[in-house]
Amino acid sequence: MIYTSRLDGAQVTINPPQDDKKYAIMLSGGFDSAVLLYFLHENGYDGRLTTFTIPKADGSHVHATNVINYFNQAYDMKLPQTILVGDPTVFHRLMSKTAAEDIWSKHADKCDILYNALNQVHPDLVDGREPQRDRKEPNEKYRFPFVDLYKTHIVDFMYEYGLEAIMPITHSCTDLPDARCGKCWQCGERAWAFTQLLKEDQGTI
Ligand SMILES: [Zn+2]
Repeated sequence: MIYTSRLDGAQVTINPPQDDKKYAIMLSGGFDSAVLLYFLHENGYDGRLTTFTIPKADGSHVHATNVINYFNQAYDMKLPQTILVGDPTVFHRLMSKTAAEDIWSKHADKCDILYNALNQVHPDLVDGREPQRDRKEPNEKYRFPFVDLYKTHIVDFMYEYGLEAIMPITHSCTDLPDARCGKCWQCGERAWAFTQLLKEDQGTI
C-alpha cells in the first residue's frame, strides 16, 4: 500500500509480506515505530512479526512492551514479547550497530527483513545535538519506509489514521524513563512536530 502525506505528498510504500520471508521491526517504545507498526498491521503482517528493542536507560523496554500490548489488544496482532538486542551502554549510533550485530548473528532464524521507522532530522532542528540518521537502507535486509519523512509527516499520519491512542503510551525523551525532560533533542523534535501541525500532544511520558 502507498500512503501519501496530506502535508506535502511525501509517500510511504509498504509491500505485503512474502510467504518465504521472516520479518521483524525495531520497536523503541517511541512514536515513529508505533505508527509503522500500524501500517504493517494494515498490510498483512499480523502474526508475522518479531520485535526487537534496545534496552536503553530511557525505559524503552517498558514502553515497547506497552506498545505491543496495546496493538495486540486493539488489533489482535499476535506480537510476541520483544527481544532485547544491542549494547545500551555505548554511544547512540554505535548502539544501533550493536543491535544489528545481535540480530543478524543471534536471531537470524527469526528475521530476513528488518523494518525500522527511521526518519530524517528537519533542518530547523539541527543544533549540534541532533542524531546522525541513515539516509537510505544499507542493504536488502532493511526496510526504512519513513526514511524520506520528517516527524511532522508521522504525527500527521497518526491523526489521519485515527491512532491517537498511541500518544499517551509512546515515549520519546532520552533523559527520563517515564516523563519528559523537555530539554533533550528528542523531546524537542516531538514538541516541534505537534507545534508545526497546530496540535496538542496528549501524551505526557
Ligand atoms: Zn527529554
